[in-house]
Amino acid sequence: MMALIVAVAENNVIGSEGKIPWHLAEDMNFFRKLTEHNVIIMGRKTFESLPRRLPNRIHIIISRNRRFVPPYDDCYVVNSLDAAIDFSRTFVGKNIFIIGGGEIYQQALQKKAVEKIFLTKVQTEPKGDTFFPVVNPQDWQETNKIHFFKNEKNDYDFDIIEFGRINKS
Ligand code: NDP
Repeated sequence: MMALIVAVAENNVIGSEGKIPWHLAEDMNFFRKLTEHNVIIMGRKTFESLPRRLPNRIHIIISRNRRFVPPYDDCYVVNSLDAAIDFSRTFVGKNIFIIGGGEIYQQALQKKAVEKIFLTKVQTEPKGDTFFPVVNPQDWQETNKIHFFKNEKNDYDFDIIEFGRINKS
């Protein structure tokens, strides 16, 4: 299974100055459980925004810079999204998650290989400089939705919404 996973504010902001502008512990927990022991594909800027390598996940980083060398094991660098998708398929039996950021989501939404979107809709409208692209509603159908409340762990109310691709041809 190949999926895109993202957290989006109501104004489509996903990032600000290289960071995600909210803290939602229960969403991070969901992200960890889903992606652990699987493959994660990301742009070089998202990789550099991580505080550290994410444990128990195979990292595939996309960069045009052929001299970019990540400072950890189990991290691979490729030079295009297509190369990332092809390489991820060599990890037989693993699920593949495209985890951002904005540039990579924009390209990944065009790829029919991406069958699902796990979209966390966050009930806030922060300032930001990176946005999730507009998704064609004819291509995607909501298949599940779970609500989480603002509390001591989560800065805001949010929903985790799952979409399946309708238009597969
Ligand atoms: P990306 O993470 O999408 O990385 C962009 C980089 O990826 C480019 O500079 C380039 O690297 C490489 N790249 C992109 N397309 C290609 C291609 N076709 N071929 C080769 N390399 C390519 O950057 P963004 O700035 O769009 O996103 C980062 C922001 O998103 C941060 O603020 C981060 O916190 C946020 N984010 C938010 C998420 C959320 O769910 N809310 C999830 C993930 C990130 P190079 O310059 O090395 O050539």
